[in-house]
Amino acid sequence: QQISTLRDSYFSTATAASSSQRTSLRIPNFIGGKFVDSQSQESIDVINPATQEVVSQVPLTTNEEFKAAVSAAKQAFPSWRNTPVTTRQRIMIKLQELIRRDIDKLALNITTEQGKTLKDAHGDVFRGLEVVEHTCGMATLQMGEYVANVSSGIDTYSIREPLGVCAGICPFNFPAMIPLWMFPVSVTCGNTFVLKPSEKDPGAAMMLAELATEAGLPNGVLNIVHGTYDAVNAICDDEDIKAVSFVGSNTAGMHIYARASAKGKRVQSNMGAKNHAIVMPDANMDATLNALVAAGFGAAGQRCMALSTVVFVGGSKPWEDKLLERAKALKVNAGIEPDADLGPVITKQAKERICRLIESGVQSGARLVADGRSITVPKYENGNFIGPTILSDVAADMECYKEEIFGPVLLCMETDSLDEAIDIINRNKYGNGASIFTSSGAAARKFQTEIEAGQVGINVPIPVPLPFFSFTGSKASFAGDLNFYGKAGVQFYTQIKTVTQQWKDLPSGSGVSLAMPTSQ
Ligand code: NAD
Repeated sequence: QQISTLRDSYFSTATAASSSQRTSLRIPNFIGGKFVDSQSQESIDVINPATQEVVSQVPLTTNEEFKAAVSAAKQAFPSWRNTPVTTRQRIMIKLQELIRRDIDKLALNITTEQGKTLKDAHGDVFRGLEVVEHTCGMATLQMGEYVANVSSGIDTYSIREPLGVCAGICPFNFPAMIPLWMFPVSVTCGNTFVLKPSEKDPGAAMMLAELATEAGLPNGVLNIVHGTYDAVNAICDDEDIKAVSFVGSNTAGMHIYARASAKGKRVQSNMGAKNHAIVMPDANMDATLNALVAAGFGAAGQRCMALSTVVFVGGSKPWEDKLLERAKALKVNAGIEPDADLGPVITKQAKERICRLIESGVQSGARLVADGRSITVPKYENGNFIGPTILSDVAADMECYKEEIFGPVLLCMETDSLDEAIDIINRNKYGNGASIFTSSGAAARKFQTEIEAGQVGINVPIPVPLPFFSFTGSKASFAGDLNFYGKAGVQFYTQIKTVTQQWKDLPSGSGVSLAMPTSQ
């Protein structure tokens, strides 16, 4: 009853088309299957980045409330782990259906809180939905191994078992996709979960919790707490949490990796990026330039797989002018407007930081061929907008190159050879993704072999793998052993038990041997 009341109020409030229809909403925690108002006196405003309107308020969850969430997850675990995997899968089959039903509402909430265009927000939900679809085959995904007769009358087999309570800490840039990278895989493996969404845009995660409940996920299997550093540290320190999934910046990710690992937890930490594209002169020019513009400026550059640096090789250098034309043709507007190609960046502080990095590039000798810093967008004069910006003649020692900018800023570099271009990328500390555009199989194969990045695109600008593979960032873009989703995701959320069984008629009087048993 309580859930349906809140569901109505949450969905209608969070997705109201205009602020006049919307009453200010303090986001509840979600504990033991109930939406519970936090008793905390402190909260953070969730702000629409296109308008600066306060959409809702996120409480800084108290320690008691956090403990209650972990306790609910711990209590739910014994019966959930013993629930047949086929039943768990069926809940995911229902969940994917409900996400499809409500995809427009989810997308609208994402656009309101995060700023990206509605079409892009649909993509955000859809890429998460694909992970839910993948978990519908969990029985097959967690099959163990069996070897009969490893010794006379003895068989050995392995089984994958859930870990217990797991936790997830999310960034702002994909408010639906990243929670969906985490809890569906974890709970379908038989774990229970405590999720902390980004304090900047928690709405989509709340809607997903409502949908998971409607799909039949039992109380306590998924819990949501809000907050920032204290909630994160509480997750890292809690003895009952066995594994932590993190996606976000390097500062937070390395802190969480160190602190949670020190408490004996498994951690998978996906972090920052500086993704490069190499453009060879034999590439298809139009297709390449379109791909560069889409992957550089889509989502206002706030994707961890955004292509933020282009390395033009040899005869492709003059294409830079055409890149500029395409960038200038993009329409900057609030994400809710149908003609918007890119929306605002997430906060005023993010805008200031991006503008500072652009300026540092100029000061250190880069050429500012497109400057989006002083753009104003009619009707949305208060929005955190930055237009497509291109810095040319960028060198590897510039701050704008070394730092992840995370905004609509494309850096251009030039080299004479593919070897030099690969060398630039390999010397960069990040290793999330890298792409090459070429019509030469030999160049593509050399790139694939020599490049030090976890996700490689060949004529593909944003090579984010579908969920039957894993998201495989490397170098400073990832800490841990087992990546998100795919086979590795299932391995992350399960531990292996290896059973050795003996069923044979033992001859009487065979005596006792204290020697180390060996295969007979
Ligand atoms: P962020 O690190 O600021 O925040 C992520 C989460 O960590 C939030 O829930 C936040 O509350 C918490 N947090 C922030 N600072 C913290 C600290 N010092 N100690 C403890 N907790 C802290 O990241 P963001 O700005 O929300 O997201 C953008 C970053 O995420 C970019 O660096 C981007 O590349 C990265 N990202 C990476 C991937 C990937 O898969 N590699 C995907 C998406 C985003």
